[in-house]
This record gives sequence, structure tokens and C-alpha cells, in this order.
Amino acid sequence: MAVTPYYLSLIDDSSAGDPIAAQCLPDLRETDLQLGGCEDPLDEERSMAVPGLIHRYPDRCLVTVTSRCAVYCRHCNRKRRWQQGERDASPAEMEAWTDYVRKRPNVREVLLSGGDPFTIDLEKLDRLLHDFRSIGHVEILRIGTRMPVTMPVGIDDDLASALRRHRPLWISTQFNHPQEITDEAAEACERLLRAGIPIVNQSVLLRGVNDDYDTMRELLYGLERISVKPYYLFQCEPVMGAMHFRVERRKGVEMMDRLWGSVSGLCIPRFVYDLPGGRGKERLDGRARNGDRDESAD
Ligand SMILES: *Cc1c(COP(=O)(O)O)cnc(C)c1O
Ligand code: SF4
Repeated sequence: MAVTPYYLSLIDDSSAGDPIAAQCLPDLRETDLQLGGCEDPLDEERSMAVPGLIHRYPDRCLVTVTSRCAVYCRHCNRKRRWQQGERDASPAEMEAWTDYVRKRPNVREVLLSGGDPFTIDLEKLDRLLHDFRSIGHVEILRIGTRMPVTMPVGIDDDLASALRRHRPLWISTQFNHPQEITDEAAEACERLLRAGIPIVNQSVLLRGVNDDYDTMRELLYGLERISVKPYYLFQCEPVMGAMHFRVERRKGVEMMDRLWGSVSGLCIPRFVYDLPGGRGKERLDGRARNGDRDESAD
């Protein structure tokens, strides 16, 4: 486990089943193998084009820069990576990524993921962004990070001004509960926004954390207030050691339907499920249900 003093301080001691504690403190249910699940539900390890690079959609690819995070989320779908220890990609691995992307002109977006890319050396991160940026057909860079939520002090001026040089660069982060939208988190987001970096949010639907209408609405309103666009709400993957977080799919769909009818469109994320076996993301929200959804998927 790892948790920052800041994130720990968000726990409300007086409440049992605190949503912050649930996300960062180990739970005995994680060791209950009878709950099932698999280590790598998305089959990411097998779908790597070169080590550390996943190219599942034609116009964008994802690289896993490090296995380290500021806080290890108990519901993480890449638990297998950090359970094996904290490791950054080597310069040789990074070079193999840029070589791969350089040879594929249809890749117009590169997504840096992990672990948390903001836990690596700023100089290393800067160089990697620069190397991708210098490939003519790479138009967009995106970084997936939970730092604004779990360690907002890490989003400092040095980081913001380094990122500013690599625009258009988007950040996707992961707020899961309104209790995470603090002044510190808002300030971290503000620092990125002032550097011209838009921020989107990818929540995970988590049992006992955000699986009720009022909490979700408060989260979405709170995000809109700090200028963070709700982008995805993920159905929790069947990850070994995180099965107790899963919410029945129908319940998620019902909650989203209610939100569609009652809150500003700016607040509405797409409710999606990343299909097991690396078959890609499937829409679960209102519109998809009129289409050709694969009912057998879950
Ligand atoms: C989710 C994902 C992306 C990004 O997809 P968007 O729908 O653009 O957010 C890219 N690569 C992989 C492997 C992914 O799982
Ligand atoms: S920040 Fe993301 S990658 Fe890191 S432990 Fe949390 S969910 Fe997993």
C-alpha cells in the first residue's frame, strides 16, 4: 500500500465506510480469492506491441511510463503492476516506443499512463514528451494521472511550465468522490488550466463510494465547478482483489439515465465498460442501449 498524508487526511474518522478510506486502505476482502476476478482483465500484457506500449485503437496508443503511484488505489485495474514493485520504463524502452510511433503515421495521439507519469523525474518526463512531440504526425499528448486528487502539492509551477511547452496536451485524472474536491485539489487543477492544459475526469463506479445518485451528482457538479470535464465513468473491471467494488451494471445504467434527465450536459460522462480480453470500450449509457450492445459481455 501507499498513501500520501494529504489523501489520508481526507478520511472522515467519524464515518464508517468512508469513501476515501475505501479507496486507499487495504481490505481483507482483497485476499478472498473466492470472489474471483483476474489479474489482467483487459489482457494488456498480451496486447503490448512493444514492451510497455498498448496500441488498441488505430489513431492513439498508450504507454505505461512507470508502475509507481502516489497512492495505490485498492480498486486499481493494474494492481498486478505495482504489486511487482515500483519501476520506471528504461531509456531503451522509451526509445522503442518513439521508434514504434514514428513508423505509424495513423497514430495522432499518445497517452502517457502508468502507474502515474507524474511520479517520474521531471527531466525524464519532459524528454519523453519532447520526443513524442517531435514526431510530425503526433498531434495530441495526453497524460493520465491521479496526482491532482491524491497529491495536489505535486502539481507545482515547475511541472505546469514544463507541460505548457508540449501543448496541445490534455490531462485525464480520476476524482471518484466529492470529498476529494478540496481547495488543494482545485488549486492543482487551476495551475494546469492556467498553463493551457484542459483536464478531463475518468471516474470508476465503486460500490459504497459513488454508486448512488446523490453522491454522483455532487461529484459531477463539483467537477464542473473546478473546470474539470467529466469524461468517462468506468464500470469496475473484474480485477482480482477488487471484486468487492463492483456495482451491478444495471444499477449504473439506471443512475446514468436519471442523471441524463436532470443535470447539465456539461456534467455528464460517458458510462463505459472496457471489455475483458482487450476488446475495447463499450458504451453503457442511454444511447448505446438503442444500438447493438453486446448483452452477453457482463
Ligand atoms: C482507453 C484507452 C485509450 C484511450 O481511449 P479514449 O477513448 O480516447 O479515452 C487508449 N488506449 C487504450 C489501450 C485504452 O484502453
Ligand atoms: S492512480 Fe491509477 S494506476 Fe495508480 S493505483 Fe490508482 S488507479 Fe491504479
